[in-house]
Parts: sequence; C-alpha cells; structure tokens
Amino acid sequence: MMPEKEIKRCTVCNLPSNYPGITFDEKGVCSICKKKEKQVQYKGINQLKKDIKAILDKSDKDREYDCVVGYSGGRDSSYLLYFAKEVLKLKVLAITLEHDFIPKQTRKNIENLAWKLGVEIKFIKNDALNKCGRQCVKAWSKNPDPAMCATFCTGCRYGIKKIIPQYARKHHIPILLVGNTPYEKINYRVNLLCCNAKKYTKGAKIKGYAKKLLQNPSYLLSPNSMHKQWLDFISYEGKKGENVNPTTIKPFYDYIEWKEEEVIPTIQKLGWKYDESLNSSWRSDCFANLLRQYYYKRLLGFNDLDVYYARMIRNQKISKEEALKKIEEEGKYDDEVIKEILQKYYDLDFDKIEEKIK
Ligand SMILES: [Zn+2]
Repeated sequence: MMPEKEIKRCTVCNLPSNYPGITFDEKGVCSICKKKEKQVQYKGINQLKKDIKAILDKSDKDREYDCVVGYSGGRDSSYLLYFAKEVLKLKVLAITLEHDFIPKQTRKNIENLAWKLGVEIKFIKNDALNKCGRQCVKAWSKNPDPAMCATFCTGCRYGIKKIIPQYARKHHIPILLVGNTPYEKINYRVNLLCCNAKKYTKGAKIKGYAKKLLQNPSYLLSPNSMHKQWLDFISYEGKKGENVNPTTIKPFYDYIEWKEEEVIPTIQKLGWKYDESLNSSWRSDCFANLLRQYYYKRLLGFNDLDVYYARMIRNQKISKEEALKKIEEEGKYDDEVIKEILQKYYDLDFDKIEEKIK
C-alpha cells in the first residue's frame, strides 16, 4: 500500500490522487467534484405505483408473481424485498443465487426475512461464481495487482444479469425490481484496467485487460473464467433490448430516495442481523466481495466505500467528518478474517500474498 502521507486527497470529497483519472486544482479540489453531477430528480412513489400498474395491466392475468427480486440477504436487497411486498403490495418471488461464499448469518437472514414477509424464495445455484471467481483469486495471488481485484467476483454479475432475468422471462414474471441507488456507480474498478489511458473507452479496457493477462498468465489456465470475465467487463454494457422482458424497475434510482436511517431499522425489525465475523454492514453478503474490498483498500488506500461516501459528500447527503467516521467504522477489516477466508475458500496463504505485495 502507498504510505498514507504520499496520497493527496481531495479537500472536499476525500478521494485520493491514485483514483483513476483524477486531477486537482490549486485549492486541492478534485476534478470529479468540479464536474457538475446531474442532480437526482425522483419521480415519487405515486408515479412508481402507476408505472408498475401499467406493466401489470398489460401482462398475463393468471400470473403467479408480479415481480422478482434478486435477493442476496444483504442490507439492500433485504430492504428491497420488504419494500416490494409491504409498500408496493406486489406478489414477489425472491431469487437467491446460491454460491459458496455466503456468510452464515447472511444465510439465516435470507430465510428469516423472507419467511417473516411471507415471500417465497427460489434458490438457483450460481456455479459461475464458485468456479470462475475462485480460479481468478488463485491466479491473482501469484501477482497481486490492484486492477485485477475486479476478477474476484467473476461470475456474480453473470448471475445477476443473466440467470435472474432468464428465470423471470421463462416464468412470465413481468417485472424485475433492482435496488440500485444513484450513489453507487463505481467506475474505478474497470478504469484501473486502462492503466494510463487518457479515456476509459471499451478499447482501452480490452487492451488493458489483455496486458494484465500477459503479465500473469495463470489467468489463461481457465478459458471458462476468461469468458465469464469478458462478459463481466464488456458484454453487459449498454446492451439493447435488455429492458424489454422482464421490465427492470429501479425504485431507489428513479422514484424515491434510499435512506439508510430508514433501511436499517426496518430490516432489523424483521430480524435481519449483521454477520458476527464481519464488523461492517457494507456488502456483508459475500466473502468474495469482502476479499476484493479488503485488497483494494490494502493496495490502493481506498475502495467502494470511499467512492460511495465521496459521492454522498458531493451531493450534500453527509458531511466530510461524518463520512470519514463512517468509513473508519464500516471499512475495518480484520486480517484474521481475511486469513480464514483465503484458507477456507481458496486454499491460499495470507502471508504468502503479503510477501508478494511487499
Ligand atoms: Zn473531490
């Protein structure tokens, strides 16, 4: 990791100088803060209900379900499930992509919360994450490059973008509800691949990715992983027609504001709990992602959490002081937990990776 004092940070949002594409003005304000982000305009809950009704009116009257929710048992999807059932009063099917990296408490959350809400869950195995994600972490450990931490979750996006919509389509479920918020757009992970490219184009990503593969040929051992990785980076972006069937609706992106102070008490009332082995609520639904976040922080000095809070500061949703406190609290990773995850799920040795990093 770069020593903290060498990293210059934006005086407004605290993003560091090694964030891809960032520059600073003479006052130390970063280029992302200077760029005016479009203010989010929410359409309101009444519009949301109207839009949903319009879709349902046009669909099969005998349908068993109105919508599917991709349900990981994490904070956000648990709230979305509650929201779909209790606020929107929809007939919901939760789809949980099963994989090897689900923490014990998350597994309990998945079943408890759905049971309390009276929502049925369909479990579908996502072997892509099990096999490809694991293979990528093993390859990465031979040459721990921060840009390639993106590969840890290979197969996950495939599950979300392919398996879940496919299931909905096959079973004539007209709506796919997703929990994205405008504050979660994370570009740095793929942009890191572009190395020093001036623009983060598709071409630069492909070139950068190819270069990284040549630097560490262990990735090439599994063509299946590479194919899934390829889909992750490239093929899902801006694909036409993806919104047709089922229709994707993002309540907390387009209609109403997602508020942490409402979300956490609501799901906790339904029995949702943090995993005891993790002291963070941040994406605590998967060990593969936890590992990825740990190594971003370790190698770059920042991760998704820093980027998320930088955007919250920029949009005046939180003060810089509060944000720094949150990052400190939520972003703590215990080395012992990481050691155990590496050993148990990947058969890898933490200290050997440390040696390579140093
Ligand atoms: Zn900034």
